[in-house]
Amino acid sequence: MTTKTMDEYALETQAIRCGHRRTHEQEHSIPIFATSSYVFSSAEEASLKFTGKQPGNIYSRFTNPTVDAFQQRLAALEKGERCLAFASGMAAIQAVGMGLLEAGDHVVCSRSVFGNTLLLFQNFFGKFGVQTDFVDLTDMDAWESAIKPNTRFLFVETPSNPLITLVDIKALSDIAHRHDSLLIVDNVFCTPALQTPLTLGADLVVHSATKYLDGQGRCVGGAVVGSNELIEQYIYPFLRTGGASMSPFNAWTFLSGLETLSLRMQAHSDSALKLAQWLNKQPNVEKVNYPGLADHPQHQLATQQQSHFGGVISFEIKGDKDNAWALIDSTRLLSITANLGDVKSTITHPATTTHGRLSAEARTAAGIKDNLVRISVGLENLEDIKNDLQSGLEYTL
Ligand SMILES: *Cc1c(COP(=O)(O)O)cnc(C)c1O
Repeated sequence: MTTKTMDEYALETQAIRCGHRRTHEQEHSIPIFATSSYVFSSAEEASLKFTGKQPGNIYSRFTNPTVDAFQQRLAALEKGERCLAFASGMAAIQAVGMGLLEAGDHVVCSRSVFGNTLLLFQNFFGKFGVQTDFVDLTDMDAWESAIKPNTRFLFVETPSNPLITLVDIKALSDIAHRHDSLLIVDNVFCTPALQTPLTLGADLVVHSATKYLDGQGRCVGGAVVGSNELIEQYIYPFLRTGGASMSPFNAWTFLSGLETLSLRMQAHSDSALKLAQWLNKQPNVEKVNYPGLADHPQHQLATQQQSHFGGVISFEIKGDKDNAWALIDSTRLLSITANLGDVKSTITHPATTTHGRLSAEARTAAGIKDNLVRISVGLENLEDIKNDLQSGLEYTL
């Protein structure tokens, strides 16, 4: 029998075992290293560590053993060489931009990305001379023709929010690389338990750990994962200098979240599929967006690219905004909040919350109608979730 190294173990094992370097105290669970700095045995050692000639802890803005354990674990799950943790998902995306871009560069971004991602590229990187064009997520010709000689990267979320639309990551990475650009994938909706974009050609993966990686709605955090080369050259210098680091307490919380990630994602996906099938049969439901349904236009792609279909569903009900609001207000169990990826089911009205800052025309162009409702399916008993929605779905127009 041969002994396996950590990267030969399956994802479930890595999610539990990776990253912990046990200290002389022989602890079984990873400790929280609540220390801002570290001591050196001599002036020479301090100098060697500060100049990077010797590895080791220096200062917790960029070296902390608890944060490092989280980074190693997530890198293993995403099949990347190196991961860096950040204070939030947005701080991670900001670091990708600050690290990779310079004035005069160009970005092509999916139109269907998290609202703050859109604002970050448009309003903030825009201020420093970086221009971003937004394209339809599924339109491969639009992606390719938007690329210019100065396009540094393509940025995408798949599946997207709130219409749960996918893009073929392999095909998009081929387009990016043909034009000497990089592909950045926000993997928040699937997590590495369902999809590993780096194995499909993506160059960097970004995360909001706030969602499924934690899984219980406790902490805000983010991460960037990729090759040693990209992370070392472009992302690490910005983390060290820019300073939007993850706290050791949050890293410790996310480490325990990762331990149950695979089980949770399977359970979220199983419930979401059954709920989507049930919603599809309700007389007042007009259309259900969920790639696990056989009639979803991208069911085939979802089957190839993902191991399960994920925990988020959206659907259009008969009527308009008032009917959507009435359904949301009729629930007693589901939480009315835009957060997702929690063991608690959440229900939201995208047109007046997450996408409420868009103009009516922009919302229509994006396919986000007033009768659209989104549910992040949690891990409560499925019959209880259905019962909670049932009465709100029984109305006559
Ligand atoms: C929440 C979210 C983010 C931003 O993450 P924060 O941790 O809230 O900063 C980015 N992308 C997606 C898809 C998200 O859902």
